[in-house]
Amino acid sequence: MDKRDYYEVLGVSRNATSDEIKKAYRKLARKYHPDANPGDKDAEAKFKEISEAYVVLSDPEKRAGYDRFGHAGADGQGFGGFEGFGDFGGLGDIFEMFFGGGGRTRRRTGPERGQDIRTDMEISLEEAAFGLEREVKVPRVETCGTCGGSGAAAGSKPKTCLACAGTGQVQFTQSTPFGRIVQSRTCDRCRGTGQVIEKPCPTCRGAGSVRKTRSIKVKVPPGVDNGSRLRLAGEGEAGTRGGPPGDLYVYIHVKQHKLFRREGDDLICEIPLSFVQAALGDEIDVPTLEGKEKLKIPEGTQPGTVFRIRGKGVPHLSGFGRGDQHVRIKVMIPGKLSEKQKELLREFARLDNGESVQGKGQAGDKSFFEKMKDAFMG
Ligand SMILES: [Zn+2]
Ligand SMILES: [Zn+2]
Repeated sequence: MDKRDYYEVLGVSRNATSDEIKKAYRKLARKYHPDANPGDKDAEAKFKEISEAYVVLSDPEKRAGYDRFGHAGADGQGFGGFEGFGDFGGLGDIFEMFFGGGGRTRRRTGPERGQDIRTDMEISLEEAAFGLEREVKVPRVETCGTCGGSGAAAGSKPKTCLACAGTGQVQFTQSTPFGRIVQSRTCDRCRGTGQVIEKPCPTCRGAGSVRKTRSIKVKVPPGVDNGSRLRLAGEGEAGTRGGPPGDLYVYIHVKQHKLFRREGDDLICEIPLSFVQAALGDEIDVPTLEGKEKLKIPEGTQPGTVFRIRGKGVPHLSGFGRGDQHVRIKVMIPGKLSEKQKELLREFARLDNGESVQGKGQAGDKSFFEKMKDAFMG
């Protein structure tokens, strides 16, 4: 199947700004998100297509590659589409020359975006449900504050590299089956930067960057789940040669809760009842994420019955509405019985005509059950 043009997928013009691209993506993503279209295969395919287009067009490097080489150039390598030609030996270099410059060498001299960083955060179910703010310690590479990233000591400046005249590239001629070809490679002297530092900055020893551990405040929104990933733009490693910083990704791990199991935004818990409570009905206190909630147990409640408490689940990440809490009834059969309890149960068995177990005890049974209640529940 032919891939559609990414700009067309997002419905933006080829010279759309990154904000316009983001806006268009968000609008479409909301519309086709699988959560909004459960079971809809077309919407799912559409959502994937939108996401793929956004991944490429939101990244300046990938976008540039896509603009020049179409889908084959969208992997961010510039010439990535030709990597399959590796068997042809020198062909890669020829392509590089043909297209002017060459992805690899150009990438080493130009501004480069900093690396993304991953950090992990373990939180409780309550924190996942209602959100939290916590500081995380992140070791990262930052631009050196002493030299501002130049790598040169105060009062001195990096000098233009003489070996490459500041281009970061040196040219050389090579004989190939296609004839003599002028090739270029990264300058050894300045390692492609085009500049040499004669008096290195004492703080970073000429590197222009330093490692630091920072405390970064992370705001976790209500409704996150295990595996959620938060992106803190620009909090990753510093870029080099004036490139933008990377992003910080916070991966969320939600600890298991002793009472609740989470399914989507619904919570499930199991509540034990005595068989007398189940048979006679009762009003019980059920734990929720925010304290206790009264729950009416109707007469004749069967084991495994599930009651729903609306709106007591986890808030939706969208900020609107909440899931429900499901209370599953577990009926406990007493292990040890007193003589009196045994006697009452025998009486129950005699009275039982096969209907009372369905919860339709006869009128006279009521006082009998009351006696049972006294005997079993004090
Ligand atoms: Zn420095
Ligand atoms: Zn040089």
